[in-house]
Amino acid sequence: MEKIATICVYCGCGCGLVLHVEDGRVVGASPSSAHPVSRGRLCVKGWLAADFVHHPDRLKTPLVRRGERMARVSWDEALSLSAKRLREIREESGPDSLAILTSAKGTNEENYLLAKLARAALGTNNVDHVARLCHAPSVAGLGIALGSGAMTNPIRSLLSSDAILVTGSNTTEQHPLVAATILEAQAQGATLIVADPRRTQMAELADIHLAPRLGTDVAWTNGMLNLIIGRGLIDEDFINERTEGFSALKELALRYTPAAVERITGIPPADLEKAAAAFGEAPRAAVVYAMGTTQHSSGTDNVLALANLVLATGNVGRDGTGIYPLRGHQNVQGACDMGALPIFYSGYQKVEDPAARRKMEAAWGTDLPATPGLTAVEMMEAAEEGRIRGMIISGENPMISYPDRGQVIRALRSLDFLAVADIFPTETTALADVVLPVASFAEKDGTFTSTERRIQRVRRAVTPPGEARPEVEVAAELLRRFSVTADYASPEEVMAEISSVTPSYGGVSSRRLGISGLSWPCPSPDHPGTEILHQGSFPIGRARFYAVEQQHLPEDLDYPLFLTTGRSLFHFHTGTMTRRTHLLDRERPKATVDINPADAAALGVRSGTMVVVESATGSLDIEARLTAEVPMGTVYIPFHFAEAPANQLTTRTLDPTSKIPGLKRTPVRIRRAEG
Ligand code: SF4
Repeated sequence: MEKIATICVYCGCGCGLVLHVEDGRVVGASPSSAHPVSRGRLCVKGWLAADFVHHPDRLKTPLVRRGERMARVSWDEALSLSAKRLREIREESGPDSLAILTSAKGTNEENYLLAKLARAALGTNNVDHVARLCHAPSVAGLGIALGSGAMTNPIRSLLSSDAILVTGSNTTEQHPLVAATILEAQAQGATLIVADPRRTQMAELADIHLAPRLGTDVAWTNGMLNLIIGRGLIDEDFINERTEGFSALKELALRYTPAAVERITGIPPADLEKAAAAFGEAPRAAVVYAMGTTQHSSGTDNVLALANLVLATGNVGRDGTGIYPLRGHQNVQGACDMGALPIFYSGYQKVEDPAARRKMEAAWGTDLPATPGLTAVEMMEAAEEGRIRGMIISGENPMISYPDRGQVIRALRSLDFLAVADIFPTETTALADVVLPVASFAEKDGTFTSTERRIQRVRRAVTPPGEARPEVEVAAELLRRFSVTADYASPEEVMAEISSVTPSYGGVSSRRLGISGLSWPCPSPDHPGTEILHQGSFPIGRARFYAVEQQHLPEDLDYPLFLTTGRSLFHFHTGTMTRRTHLLDRERPKATVDINPADAAALGVRSGTMVVVESATGSLDIEARLTAEVPMGTVYIPFHFAEAPANQLTTRTLDPTSKIPGLKRTPVRIRRAEG
């Protein structure tokens, strides 16, 4: 049996695992004991990470729509047709009538080439990916405050923390190896503060649980700051030497008294005081957050408020401190790093910066567009309006993951041409004109960059099924069909190009990555990588405080409850892989709507009752589950399930800065289903 060391395909923890290969088939996965994150452990999804690889549903041949049916064709025909249709649309309607959605499940090399395809071949900055729906507020907010949107410290740095504030993160289910590290730190004496409207397992285990009303994160964070200032627990030396803008923040924070915060959030003043004291008095404190913080129409403000908290207490740039935006997909950090974003080239070099543009034009040998592109949800709106007519979607399934499913259907049906690359048939491939079968993580070489900025090698263990190909080859073929040079003999050669144009990856090469990888910034071949950011200085010189106010949250009497969405331990994103993993699907085979027993009693609903959940955008028939995990007034639906898609209910209300939709707070009402 051959053993191939690679990286888990699921969450952003980036655990190292070993694929066991026998007779050309992956027969199992086990943890890598030498790996610095997993340290010989994996969560249940990691242990079962390879179970879908040989599933009979795998896409094996390129397909082209012929009327109502899909016909098998050669790669040459599928790619020639794709290039022809994209070129025709560009000639008729201009380059900005085209768009590409890349995949956070793809490698860095794949994301880089797809972003290059959008810019250098199609001539548009309309390129984005799932980060828009998860951590766009981190890229924006932490970028504004600290000069970098990434996690400041490695996961294991939490072991040195004296207090850890976890907010908007169901960590034991979504990032189990981060949760294990946090709980290890707690066992060593760190105080665990969890702020979450739901009583998640993490909240159960916390020393202090704050349960704010949905959407009131800015208020309680400002309230903690109010108490920290009042108790003299700010780090004045740090504020004076390394930051700017504190006086305006202080003035604002003074208005967020415990009593005012209680009125907005429902958090009792005594709990807020305990949390503020634990965080403010800790010599080393850290903030960990995820999509419960970012997926709001105030997502960027929520992130800025948390950044204020760590800066005011001087908790940046040291072991045990820092701010940890936990990335959901294994390579969502890398896809952002690679410039699969409408305003950045790789390494967050702005497309509007003439010097950056000239550099990329020289590297790619063609003129590049200067206008920022559309974000993912904006692309869907443009498609429905006919402003975008042609699209490539790589490994994403917006039919399940994007807000307002009805609008997504209208948008994708409005396109004149849609090509979708994936490993399995999905609700989105069903609408495609061309379907491109691509390799899974076990069938390709390349790199992923984990949530802690660790660039790691993904290794090919088996050959792709049928005619499926790694997407690096597919993107390179398409680039050549648009006369853009793309003569890469391997993903290593793509990484060589990435490091030549991306300062933070300047010293990265496949040869250097070994078992532990390298953390960016790694600017030169002799640089050891950077595990802790902002130790001596910030990329923007001084870090910046931003005084952010709590948004007013209007009540809607027609929709008196609030829906929040999330993930289950046993499933990943739209379920294309985990729902084809028998043991995982057996554990969580269907969606339910979680309702507080008091709300359920008022509605006349029991566990198992079929209910109709209605919002302004749609309705959903779903089985009720009664649980005190959700507070009164809030209901919860996991979003993995195509047969009960939560995005039939969610809306496209966007955060004005990051353009993330407010998936975590949708006004809804519930009634018993007829019959
Ligand atoms: Fe994979 Fe995340 Fe589980 Fe690690 S914690 S094994 S990366 S799903």
